Amino acid sequence: MNKGQINVQTENIFPVIKKFLYSEHDIFIRELISNAVDATQKLKTLATMGKFDGELGDLTIQVKVDKDAKTITVSDRGIGMTAEEVDKYINQIAFSGAEEFLEKFKVEGGNIIGHFGLGFYSAFMVSEKVDICTKSYQHDTKAVTWTCTGSPDYEMGETDKADRGTDIVLHVADDAMEFLDEAKIVELLRKYCRFLPIPIRCGDETKWEKPENAEAKEGEEVKEVEVKYPRIINNTNPLWKQTPSSITPEQYLEFYRELYPMTFEEPLFQIHLNVDYPFNLTGILYFPKVRNQLEMQKNKVQLYCNQVFITDQLEGVIPEFMMLLHGVIDSPDIPLNVSRSYLQSDSNVKKISTHITKKVADKLEEMFKNNREDFEKKWDDLKVFIEYGCLTDEKFYERAKNFILFKNVDGKYYTMDEYRAGIETRQKDKNDIVVYLYAHDLATQHVYIQSAKEKGYDVLLMDGFLDTHFINLLEPKIEKCRFARVDADVMDKLIEKDEVMPAKLSEAEQTSLKEAFEKCANKEMFTVEIANLSETELPIMITQNEFMRRFKDMQKLSGQNNGMFGNFDRYNLVVNGNHPLASKILEEGDEAKKEQMTQQLIDLALLSQNLLTGEKLSEFVKRSVEMM
Ligand code: ADP
Repeated sequence: MNKGQINVQTENIFPVIKKFLYSEHDIFIRELISNAVDATQKLKTLATMGKFDGELGDLTIQVKVDKDAKTITVSDRGIGMTAEEVDKYINQIAFSGAEEFLEKFKVEGGNIIGHFGLGFYSAFMVSEKVDICTKSYQHDTKAVTWTCTGSPDYEMGETDKADRGTDIVLHVADDAMEFLDEAKIVELLRKYCRFLPIPIRCGDETKWEKPENAEAKEGEEVKEVEVKYPRIINNTNPLWKQTPSSITPEQYLEFYRELYPMTFEEPLFQIHLNVDYPFNLTGILYFPKVRNQLEMQKNKVQLYCNQVFITDQLEGVIPEFMMLLHGVIDSPDIPLNVSRSYLQSDSNVKKISTHITKKVADKLEEMFKNNREDFEKKWDDLKVFIEYGCLTDEKFYERAKNFILFKNVDGKYYTMDEYRAGIETRQKDKNDIVVYLYAHDLATQHVYIQSAKEKGYDVLLMDGFLDTHFINLLEPKIEKCRFARVDADVMDKLIEKDEVMPAKLSEAEQTSLKEAFEKCANKEMFTVEIANLSETELPIMITQNEFMRRFKDMQKLSGQNNGMFGNFDRYNLVVNGNHPLASKILEEGDEAKKEQMTQQLIDLALLSQNLLTGEKLSEFVKRSVEMM
């Protein structure tokens, strides 16, 4: 047995690594399996090049957990290593990686992320001792053992090993006993190694089956028995690695289910990414249905590096709104061994991010152009994603403005240009501003929508939870426009025209009418206004200033409602001075009766807005009965 000392400056670096990578202990399995896969792939490559003439045989990587011996063993039948190679790759190179890690750690401190390519050496995060037993594929080489306890000292020697390949034996440390559980290892393998290209086996799985050729006894069914099968962890040929033209829609759906077994909703469609210049990237991005805040789940896109799972925390790697998508991205060009802040400023990462945004916009535009009808059908489910994209990425908006759709209250869809052309003449006010009317709730705003329709105006339906933000984004971008919710004022004021409706009441009468209403209305909540509308319009309406309301909505959305800017729950009580009831109230000589009529009108307006409740509602009911 040879003894040696690993070439590391620090006396004992393992405790440092253990301590600081505590939360990322899991990755040892990913690193060891990656090495085993690499070694196997190398052998396959040598075979295709004619440089290996032996039998490849079964190349399955075996992972064994032995609770009694307190070991985890990873075995491959790849190229193996000669003694010289162990010395070079394990004693020198692998540990120089460790040193590099320490150097980085000194600079970046706790900021270092767990994606540092720790390689073989990460085995020490969970082990008190690691053995390697390896035999090279080359003829006439001896098998080698290597043992190290995590101090810089190691032992190396010759041994007997029948087959080529490498066994890595981890003697699990006392503080890492949780890994001595096959179920735990299977879970980790499924997380990190689910799509690796070489089959990986860990233990067996049992299925209940009827034995073949078994004959049932008279009057009895054949009994099912437990049958054991090797438990293969991975799908070695994941869909994103296959040629898009050969994949059916069912296969995309099946793969989606494989990725998200707990998601029952089907995705709307997907994009298959396949780039090889100027960087390497493959993947499939699925568009889920997103209608409300609850469905805004992030961290569903998984990042792989050559089919090894890296992370699903993709902040900074892909644009924020893309995080609403589902699926996988696989790229060897995303640097994994760096901190997150570095990742965000990396030029490759930026290129990848821009590329994905472009691909997504291309796909949406293509869908819009090729099948508008189908695109309209998907719009309600796509809207949040597209709005979110526009709100967070100016470049995306520039692309999306061609296929953003407006839906009106009658369920018709228009592009922004189409819509403008449709309302341009009718909905232009006296200052040449085109007013885009919208409603956010068909039921509660019915009266106001009707009032707009009677004037021949169109009303958009803006009922998405990002719509207030989106309107704020669009308003300055669309030329000479203003958005106004139908209940923000009476129609004649929302779209003011040159010709004004003449007033039936004198100014003195208007003042007296106003005072009558002010006497009855809750001053905290309402400002009374007299408006001269058509006789056929309602006698009274409740409106809320557009900007006050938007401000309130934005506050609600951002979760801050500290009342710092006062109470925004103020409304206008607009009394139609031209309505016959207005004159009737003014003409009423009996003060009590006059008050009763005024109060009744106010309550009717409140009632239509669901603002009349409790005692006030009871009073209203009582008064209504009396008045009849
Ligand atoms: P990396 O994989 O990043 O090169 P590692 O520390 O994981 O770094 O491994 C160092 C080297 O040791 C590998 O490049 C490879 O040459 C060799 N090696 C590690 N594991 C195996 C294995 N299972 N079979 C053959 N060679 C291996």
